[in-house]
Amino acid sequence: MKVLHLAAELAPIAKIGGLADVTLGLPLELGKKGLDTCVLIPKYDVIDKKGLKGLKKLSSFKVLFDNQWHKNTLWQAHIGSLKVWLIEEHTQKRYFRRKAIYGCSDDMERFLYFCACSYALFERYKPDVVHMHDWHTAAIAPMLSFAKSPIQTIFTIHNPAYQGICTKALFKKLNTLKSTKEWSCGLTKINLLKAGIIYSDFVTTVSPRFARDMLSKKSTWGLFALLKKKGAHYSGILNGIDYHTWDPEKDPYIKARFNVGKITRIFGRAKTAFAKIKQKNKLDLQKTLHLESNAKVPLIACITRLVEQKGLGLIEHAIEYTLKKGGQFVLLGSRASKETERDFEELKKQLKPTNRAHLQFHHNEEIAHKIFAGSDMFIIPSLFEPCGITQMIAMRFGTIPIVRNTGGLADSVFDLKDSSKKPSKRNGFTFSKPTKASIEEAIDRALLCWEKRPTEWGRLVNNALKAPYDWEKSAEDYYKIYKKKP
Ligand code: ADP
Repeated sequence: MKVLHLAAELAPIAKIGGLADVTLGLPLELGKKGLDTCVLIPKYDVIDKKGLKGLKKLSSFKVLFDNQWHKNTLWQAHIGSLKVWLIEEHTQKRYFRRKAIYGCSDDMERFLYFCACSYALFERYKPDVVHMHDWHTAAIAPMLSFAKSPIQTIFTIHNPAYQGICTKALFKKLNTLKSTKEWSCGLTKINLLKAGIIYSDFVTTVSPRFARDMLSKKSTWGLFALLKKKGAHYSGILNGIDYHTWDPEKDPYIKARFNVGKITRIFGRAKTAFAKIKQKNKLDLQKTLHLESNAKVPLIACITRLVEQKGLGLIEHAIEYTLKKGGQFVLLGSRASKETERDFEELKKQLKPTNRAHLQFHHNEEIAHKIFAGSDMFIIPSLFEPCGITQMIAMRFGTIPIVRNTGGLADSVFDLKDSSKKPSKRNGFTFSKPTKASIEEAIDRALLCWEKRPTEWGRLVNNALKAPYDWEKSAEDYYKIYKKKP
């Protein structure tokens, strides 16, 4: 079976957030199951070519867009065993040569152009299944449907906060399509995410809980009627993480490496073995970030895009509260608006004299790995979270998540006191209300357990390390969908 994934991001070469991790991890796992998989992305000028093996030109091809023919080059490379195709455009508008993946004023047009190019390549790749990720690639669904193509289509919604609303006039640049009523948005606009939902054979989102949330009439995304109509052709599959990328035994950035399987096997007998490893990584992190080197101070971290969804006010409060309780806090934030960055810079200035907080605002892969391995706890107070993968990565390094009980966080983190779960499944701390009081209560419980109940903490760490969040099961669920007849 040949499966072609279409996306705007791919780790590690073009990564903004979790979407990039998924478009690497899922196809890699599908490849292990014997599927012929390939990921197709734009060849952005910001691509980190070091991550690509055997980059070579495959061919040139032309695409009709906005009533003009445009020349493109198709490139091929590998990331590990994964085949990657990259489209280099040679347009006057330099769509993918903007020193950015997103954030241009004409993003809609850029990704519609990418759809036009992708469509032109189906003839060459001959996929059995086309798997589209998020609005950037959603226009492919109606294109294939209108052409009565036999290719099976699956559309995954990673974040419905971004729906791809564009003008009908812009959409007409695709030439092959007319817009339709069902996905119109007022008189002059259309909604690409809706088009993806309507015209794909199957629609998924990235956790079962979030799939249910989007089906609720109360959901703010305005998609429930369309999703309901999909019936059994709509489901939630929890994301996994790529255990090769996030492997504490081979991680090039961390001080003390360890084999997760070995550690968890001997955990009962040798709790201190892991504690020593954690201590080394923590001291290394503290040294790197110029914090006081002290293993006895609890260290809470957060790595996130700094956008409203992630609970900005709650993150700020968690920082202040952790310091008030005598702990250290590390924030690695990315993609903040100017205003948000100003607020956090202000907080950073205020906290400087304490020397117990480190806040930095850009994407930094190396520091991210050190944080996952070196902190004691990892906080995610999202207002909503389709899946979230940092909680899974943190657990893989024996770092305990403190999360808001929503979406995929609720499907992957189970509170120490959650009696509906077996004690061996409990792997963190959760809170429900997006309020200061709730987050304080969760931080208090976590700090108390860390400081005063080492045996209970040890069990929690062992459960977190053992939590099965690789891609194995989720890839199997996607494979089952690929095999279904539309
Ligand atoms: P989202 O996709 O909404 O941004 P996820 O939790 O699904 O959130 O995925 C975030 C991914 O991006 C993780 O791999 C995380 O480590 C990474 N990430 C986020 N911010 C940064 C940053 N500032 N530096 C390095 N990696 C980051």
